[in-house]
Amino acid sequence: MKKEFKGKLCAYCNVRRATTDDHVIGKKFFPQPLRGNLPKVPACKECNNKKGDLERYAMAVFPFGSSHPAGEEMLRTKVEARLKKDQRLHRQLRQGQRDVPVVNPNGTTETRFAIPLDDEKALTLFAMIIKGLLWHHCQSPLPSAYVVRLFSFTDVGIGLFRQHILSLSQEQFQMIVLAEGAFQYEFTRNTQDPFFSVWVLNIYGLLSMCDITADGQLLRCHVAALTGPAEEINPLADAIEKKAL
Ligand SMILES: [Zn+2]
Repeated sequence: MKKEFKGKLCAYCNVRRATTDDHVIGKKFFPQPLRGNLPKVPACKECNNKKGDLERYAMAVFPFGSSHPAGEEMLRTKVEARLKKDQRLHRQLRQGQRDVPVVNPNGTTETRFAIPLDDEKALTLFAMIIKGLLWHHCQSPLPSAYVVRLFSFTDVGIGLFRQHILSLSQEQFQMIVLAEGAFQYEFTRNTQDPFFSVWVLNIYGLLSMCDITADGQLLRCHVAALTGPAEEINPLADAIEKKAL
């Protein structure tokens, strides 16, 4: 474990002492040459194991929805071996896979290969990633009375979210590009309270992992999040969900 992490509380649970350092975004999401500079945070064994399980799932599934060369390379070179090690997941994906007709923005139709995604696993992982990134930028865990609320937006929804929410505290805005763009995030924080924050995450370009509507429209998925005191964030997040999703 890094010396500066010794004795620190876990970035994810803020309850147990850290026993290890954890890559906020697992390095095995990316081809070897792109793994430098990925942020690390202190983590306890339980959270590290839990996140490791979620990441193993995501590393086998997310590359199927990639629109970034790194995701495509992982799909070509690593996913098969990973699925061989996890027969249960392999079976699940095989049973759920199908070809779906997709209407492109220009009106043409094509058939795409689709696999089922366990939303709960994906969103739990994204929430842990947000907590890790917050630790990385604030050097302290999300306070226990604070929550992370995640959103999965369509193209229209993310536009509104950027315009009305991400543009708050403009002077605090940062965009970070890692792994040659295979992992990117934008965030802004409240000047008085850095844990009051807004995020947009992007793994493998835009993951095409959202719903396919009855008319074959592929709703691309943009992952965004809010963090802050529960009593302020929950009503705001509920209102956003009602309007923008
Ligand atoms: Zn923990």
